[in-house]
Amino acid sequence: MNKLTIAAQTIKDRVSALDVGNALGLNVDKHGRCSCPFHNGKDRNMKLFPGNRGYSCFVCHASGDVIRFVQEYNGCTFKEAVNWLNNAFNLGMDISSPMSPYERKRAKFAQWHRKNEQDFRAWKDRFGFDMALLADDIVRILENIRDEKRPRTYGEWDSDFCVAVELLPEARQFAEDCMMECMKEVQN
Ligand SMILES: [Zn+2]
Repeated sequence: MNKLTIAAQTIKDRVSALDVGNALGLNVDKHGRCSCPFHNGKDRNMKLFPGNRGYSCFVCHASGDVIRFVQEYNGCTFKEAVNWLNNAFNLGMDISSPMSPYERKRAKFAQWHRKNEQDFRAWKDRFGFDMALLADDIVRILENIRDEKRPRTYGEWDSDFCVAVELLPEARQFAEDCMMECMKEVQN
C-alpha cells in the first residue's frame, strides 16, 4: 500500500459522485440526476449516487466510482484524478512525499479496520470508546502543532512547537501499542 492507494480510499470514503457532480456544476436535480457528460446526452440519464455508490448512465452505461468519474471527465490519469479531488474537496492529504514508518503502521491499521468493521464495532460497543483511534488523534494534533508552529527563522523560539516535537515519539509509540492491542483483542 502506498500513499496514492490510501488517498484514493480516503476520497472514496468521504466524497460521493453526487458531491463531484455538484462541484463540477453539472446541474444535478434533487434525485441526483443530470445529463450525462460522457455521451453528451440532453436528458437526465446520468444518476449520481450519495455515499460510495458512484455513478451510472442508463444510456451509454458509463459507471464507476468518483475517481473513475473525474478521470473520464477531465481526461486524466488515476493519480491526477486523486490529486484533483484532494484539492477540490480540501482534503489536505500529502500524497507525494514518502511514508514514515508510523504512517505505514497507521495505514495498515486503517486497512485492517475496514476489513474487520463488524467485529471491531462489537468490541468497541463493549468498551465504549476506541483507544487506538483516540491515540492516533493525539498524534495528528501534535503533528499539526509541529507543522503550524514550526519556527521560520533561525533562533526563533516557540514553546508549543518544542513540546509537540518532544511528545511526538512517545505519542506515536503509544498509538502503535494501542493499534496492536486493538487488533489482538478484536481477533480473539
Ligand atoms: Zn451516458
